[in-house]
Amino acid sequence: LTIGVPRETEPGETRVALVPDVADRLLATVDDLDIRVEEGAGQGAYHTDADYDAAGCLVVGRDATFDADIIAKVAPPSDDEVDRLGEGQVLVGFLSPLERPETAQALADRGVTALAMELVPRISRAQKLDALSAMSSIGGYRAAIGAAERLPAFFPLLTTAAGTVRPARVLVLGAGVAGLQAIATAKRLGAKVFGYDIREPTREEVESLGASFVELEVDIEADQDESGYAEQVEKEKQERQPELLQPHLAEADVVISTALIPGQPAPLLINEEAVAAMDPGSVIVDLAAPNGGNCALTETGEEIVAHNVQILGPTNLPAEMPVHASELYAKTVAAMIEEGLEADAFAPDFDDEIFAESCLTRDGTVQNDRVRGLLG
Ligand code: NAD
Repeated sequence: LTIGVPRETEPGETRVALVPDVADRLLATVDDLDIRVEEGAGQGAYHTDADYDAAGCLVVGRDATFDADIIAKVAPPSDDEVDRLGEGQVLVGFLSPLERPETAQALADRGVTALAMELVPRISRAQKLDALSAMSSIGGYRAAIGAAERLPAFFPLLTTAAGTVRPARVLVLGAGVAGLQAIATAKRLGAKVFGYDIREPTREEVESLGASFVELEVDIEADQDESGYAEQVEKEKQERQPELLQPHLAEADVVISTALIPGQPAPLLINEEAVAAMDPGSVIVDLAAPNGGNCALTETGEEIVAHNVQILGPTNLPAEMPVHASELYAKTVAAMIEEGLEADAFAPDFDDEIFAESCLTRDGTVQNDRVRGLLG
């Protein structure tokens, strides 16, 4: 079995799909395995060719990595990379299936078996393959660090000879993986942290991190039985989110927004009026930027100032922390490969939920229904 690890070519991508330690472990556990790593592939993540060589990998030119049985990548393949792949080869990586359905079609046309890390089901058995959660955790951490760096004020409460400084107020919208990590990080930096999510069960998780859960207040006529009333309240809260969140946003020095339902455009939570009501110098880090943003003024991939508020729309925060991002990502890729091994050959069971869901293309067709729907 051969695994190829090409150097990533997407602008700004610093991660590498396999790090030397993880490669070393795979080589020790799988018989007759060759891992071919392109020269310089680990550079962005501070791994030299010599490190790969010492781990037992073959350091080779680009063509040889694309000639392997399994090609392990981080970013979705470029057109040139798709053209290098062919019948019988397996591609493992982030493939942006819903954002780039045409890439899926091109991979299918070339007879490639493509496994998308984004499509790994979030079930406990697949936890060690959950690259998305690993990267979201890094995204949440970096968002809080980046906000602290840009805020022209302290995060923690400080008592100095010249007086006491109040702690920054950080509001995190969306308490999924990224949001909870942002909450935990802002908390460790000493800020007063608030969390909000549309899912009520997240309240407990937010509170267990020492943050306060934000409850949106609606005042509507109680003209139904109790269950009907509760439903009406929830509907009203959803429809009026930007307006109901506004007073909470106005009080925040930092807003980190992570609200998303996979495959849907990011919900609008912060309108221009809310930005204008924030204090000068406040910071918004919009992690939902790649999906359109939770803030109306976010410019994807840019840092702007509007109404004297700094608005960041990062698209690849994990690439700002390539050492741990590559290490964790490599572990999920290795787990995916190991899961599909059958007597030292890669022969995944496509009836198994993990491969049934993560398989984007196989046998010349796009396997995922939603992606097929996008292709019409
Ligand atoms: P997740 O699915 O675990 O969490 C998203 C949360 O948003 C869920 O808890 C969901 O209930 C909540 N949500 C959905 N709609 C909402 C609404 N209208 N109001 C309030 N909450 C709502 O996802 P995650 O893994 O935490 O990732 C969150 C986002 O961060 C994703 O968009 C992900 O792509 C992005 N991300 C971006 C970067 C970057 O560099 N920009 C890095 C990592 C993650």
